[in-house]
Amino acid sequence: MTIRQLPDTLINQIAAGEVVERPASVVKELVENALDAGARRIDIDLEEGGVRLIRVRDDGGGIDASDLPLAVARHATSKIASLDDLEAVATLGFRGEALPSIASVSRFALASRRAGSEHGAVLPVEGGRIGAVAPKPHPPGTTVEVRDLFYNVPARRKFLRAERTELGHIEDWLRSLALARPDVELRVAHNGKPARRYRALGLLDGDARQTAPERLLETLGEEFARNALRIEHVGAGLRLHGWIARPAYNRASADQQYLYVNGRSVRDRSVAHAVKQAYADVLFHGRQPAYVLFLELDPRGVDVNVHPAKHEVRFREARLVHDFVYRTLLEALAETRAGATAAIAE
Ligand code: ADP
Ligand code: MG
Repeated sequence: MTIRQLPDTLINQIAAGEVVERPASVVKELVENALDAGARRIDIDLEEGGVRLIRVRDDGGGIDASDLPLAVARHATSKIASLDDLEAVATLGFRGEALPSIASVSRFALASRRAGSEHGAVLPVEGGRIGAVAPKPHPPGTTVEVRDLFYNVPARRKFLRAERTELGHIEDWLRSLALARPDVELRVAHNGKPARRYRALGLLDGDARQTAPERLLETLGEEFARNALRIEHVGAGLRLHGWIARPAYNRASADQQYLYVNGRSVRDRSVAHAVKQAYADVLFHGRQPAYVLFLELDPRGVDVNVHPAKHEVRFREARLVHDFVYRTLLEALAETRAGATAAIAE
């Protein structure tokens, strides 16, 4: 047997298998990059559910023309430089593999201009083949264009679903982002028509991470907003805040369960279990609670490098986190029960 070093493009295509499942994963990676760059406004243009085109434009810090080739190089990142940085990572990205992965399975272009710079530039990449940097007028900020996703990976392309389904996945993800970042303006156009707009909202209690009631209303609907209970609890190095629905409002599925750990949307079984347990006595069997919860802790207490797509985290003190969530919610829910009893007694 001969052992060979694989070419870079193939390595990126293999990595793309983990990071890029569908158009929604591309939107997620590009928008997270925009947020990491400090964007205040993000414009997303889609065609055919993102399969034909995903274009994400931001007004963030931008990239130097001379750095464009590095941005699409594997394991190149401006966000961490050492293991120490990794252990305390505060940005959404850090692996330096989203852009090269996406660029290896699409017709890709990265255009940018740094805030202080006079000129913009663009770097095209086609199916992983990196082109030449060329001057291009661009406002301060960055535009990433992804056309014909998986055009060169037929096996993957086959798994893409109907336009509506892919668009639905993108909208689901944007909803979860809009809940966590009410301070950023998000605009989406689909097939040339405005499709969704989340305005930047004022800060609630001066905290950009607090979801304003207005945002609950536009993302989760009037009934959720009407039944939403604001919670906040600090202790043991943890802070849990956000909104939980009164038990009277519940769901058939877990479709309105949002959890963010240090601002990152994640799924976590242990936290989901703690919430369910807190609701156990007040929900009918088989019904699901609805919530938007933000857990904040020292980044060193949580490992975000568990999976390439970063959907999961690992807590250093999982038991502590579980019990903290459980007790906080139990207490909040006890108050609703006391309130209900008082109302009946009146
Ligand atoms: P990561 O986000 O893990 O660093 P990416 O492949 O997503 O890796 O991006 C590589 C690098 O390109 C980033 O570290 C950042 O320096 C730069 N970059 C990507 N997108 C943007 C953007 N929208 N604005 C500014 N810089 C960006
Ligand atoms: Mg990234």
